[in-house]
Amino acid sequence: MSEEGWFDELLYDGVTHKGYTQSFKIDKVLFREKTDFQGLIIFETPYFGKVLALDGIIQTTEKDEFCYHEMQAHVPILAHGNAKRVLIIGGGDGGVLREVLRHATVEKAVMVEIDRMVVDLCREYMPTLSDGAFDDPRAQLVIADGLKYVAGTDDRFDVIIVDSTDPVGPGEALFTAEFYGNCKRCLTDGGVVVTQNGVTFFQPEEVTGTCCRLKPIFADAGFYVTVVPTYVGGFMTLGWGTDDTTLRDVPQEVLADRFAGSGLMTRYYTPDVHRAAFALPAFIIAEIAED
Ligand code: SAM
Repeated sequence: MSEEGWFDELLYDGVTHKGYTQSFKIDKVLFREKTDFQGLIIFETPYFGKVLALDGIIQTTEKDEFCYHEMQAHVPILAHGNAKRVLIIGGGDGGVLREVLRHATVEKAVMVEIDRMVVDLCREYMPTLSDGAFDDPRAQLVIADGLKYVAGTDDRFDVIIVDSTDPVGPGEALFTAEFYGNCKRCLTDGGVVVTQNGVTFFQPEEVTGTCCRLKPIFADAGFYVTVVPTYVGGFMTLGWGTDDTTLRDVPQEVLADRFAGSGLMTRYYTPDVHRAAFALPAFIIAEIAED
C-alpha cells in the first residue's frame, strides 16, 4: 500500500518491477490478511468497485472482471461444442465458475483452489463475482493444490481452465511442464486446456515459457487474447492446448449457432471476438517464435 488511501500495484515481469505502477484510490479496506498462502486484500474504490489483490497483484475488480471471465470460459466451451465436465484450477473469486455454469451443457464443474480464504472472503465481500455459482448443484469445490490434483485424479474433463495467479508463490507450480502434462492426462479426447498467461507487454517471458512447455505436449499449443483494463499493458494472453487442431478455427456460423443456442447474454464475448482473439499482434508472435 502506498501513501495513505492509495493502493499501488507495482507492474513487473513476475520478478522485478519496471519502475511503473498503477494506483487505486482506496475508499475503504474491507479485509486485509496474510493467509497460509499469500497476502490478501479486498478494498472499495470509486471507479472499479471492489478490488481483490493477492501479494500486491490485482486479481479482479467488480467493474472489469467480465472481460476476463467471459473469455476464459466461453472460448474453450463454445469451441468444444459439447463440454459436459469442466475443471477450473484456481479461480477463487468464482467468476470463471459463474460463467462456466451458465452453459446448460455443463453437467459438472470441479474447481480446485488452494486457498479457502480467497473463496470465503470473495463470497462475503465480492458476491457478484460468483453470483451464487458455489451453490449450484453441478459445482464441486476442492481445496487443494492444483498441481497435486491433476497428478492424482482419475476424473476426466472436456475443458480445463487454469485461472491462476501469476508464476510467483503458489501459482508458480501451475506454469510447469509437469502440470501441463497432467492436465493433458486429465483431458477427454478432443479436450482443451486454457491458461491465464499474463500481459505480454510486461511479462513477455510468460508466453515464451508457456509455449515451450505446451508445444511438446499438445498438437496445437498457442494463445488467444483478451483485454482487461486493470491487467495493465494491453493484450492479456490466454494459453491454449489441445490435440484437436480444428478447435481454434471453428467456423463463425457454427460459433454463432452455439452462442445463440446457449442463451448467453455477454458484455465482452461474441462469436466474432472469439475468432478474432486468436489473431495475435506481431510482438506477441515474436515472443512465441523465439522458443
Ligand atoms: N484472474 C486472476 C489473474 O488473471 O491473475 C486470477 C484470479 S484467482 C483469484 C487466482 C487464484 O489462483 C487464487 O485464488 C489463488 O489462491 C489460486 N492459486 C494459486 N496457486 C494455486 C495452486 N497451486 N492450486 C490451486 N489454486 C491456486
